[in-house]
Amino acid sequence: MDDDRRAEAQHRLVRCPSCLEELYFDDRRLFLPVLPSNKMEPWDPSTEPNAIRRADQLNRAFLKCPNERVTTHFLPVPYLLHDRPLTVAFVGQSGTGKTHLLAAMMAEIGRGGLDPLGIRCRSVNSSRHHAYLAGSVNELEAGRVLPQTAARDFVEFTDALLVTVDGRTRPVAFFDVAGESLKLDGPATEFLLGVDAVIFVVDALRALRLNHLVLAREIAGVSQIQPGVPDPTFSIVLDRLPRKSELCELPTAIVLNKCDVLRFEPPVDHWLRADVGPPHVPTAEEIYRESRDVYAFLSHHQATPWLKPFAECRRCTLHFVSATGMSPAVLPSANRPGAGAFASAIRPRRVLGPLLSIFQMCGLLPSPGAATGLKGV
Ligand SMILES: [Zn+2]
Repeated sequence: MDDDRRAEAQHRLVRCPSCLEELYFDDRRLFLPVLPSNKMEPWDPSTEPNAIRRADQLNRAFLKCPNERVTTHFLPVPYLLHDRPLTVAFVGQSGTGKTHLLAAMMAEIGRGGLDPLGIRCRSVNSSRHHAYLAGSVNELEAGRVLPQTAARDFVEFTDALLVTVDGRTRPVAFFDVAGESLKLDGPATEFLLGVDAVIFVVDALRALRLNHLVLAREIAGVSQIQPGVPDPTFSIVLDRLPRKSELCELPTAIVLNKCDVLRFEPPVDHWLRADVGPPHVPTAEEIYRESRDVYAFLSHHQATPWLKPFAECRRCTLHFVSATGMSPAVLPSANRPGAGAFASAIRPRRVLGPLLSIFQMCGLLPSPGAATGLKGV
């Protein structure tokens, strides 16, 4: 089966998610990481006569991107052996909770959060996925605050899954990019020109002027907020996304993150309470009502500039989310803003909603209609 996929992939053009080079699967460009250093060594599938061992090695192998003009980089082979990949970028300035949100999504998926919906997920590359789980998801679930994503001059996806729905499998790659990197031109942000969907993360502590958020802002080190000044990365990314007309056609979602600090504010309280019961793919009406409420809430609290993605994108849904379910407490030893740990086990709330909405808008799940036409409702 893997040999058949390999033969098919040799005729299917795939775009490198990092540098946008268009490439074909090519046996002559395969590498295998060799333990213990994980150094990439050239690998020829024809040297392994046993089909079972060859399939296993193929699953662990990487293809060297033919673009030699940038940093040498490799794509996991399973990323190239299935239907068209879907790439999702998380956008927001440092400290908005992008890293926590992606880790919380992966934790929910790892706990089988998508299984009742008939969505099966497995890793694109097992060793890299487990390294990501160990460095992010396990740390977060142990109550530790994750470090901010480091700025890089060349961006590769953070983690990727093979997502199967109704027998069709597509790779889904997630980019968690440092806010500082998003401000750079050139290779660092070229990947943005090729992403299939964007999740804009609004930091409730930065976007809202509510007085009762003062302490939470101090703990998070965001006490120096400037009223009415939106997240600069939103404009930078929106300006960079390709568009053929006035509106950007890329599916997008706006996530109002850190909603745990708003848990007594209507209608946020209603939506956090609604996050119980059996998981389901949101209906058109649910998507419309939640999007309407987020829009109204941000507008009411003078956070309209954070709604710019909704104004500029034809397809955009809005979501109330808390990646961790609580704010970190400051540790006595912490000597820098934002340092700390969570007082108890984290409780992510509604983190899979934006992902399901992106899946619907990108055709991975059946579209409920309103998700692709909120502006017309
Ligand atoms: Zn490349």
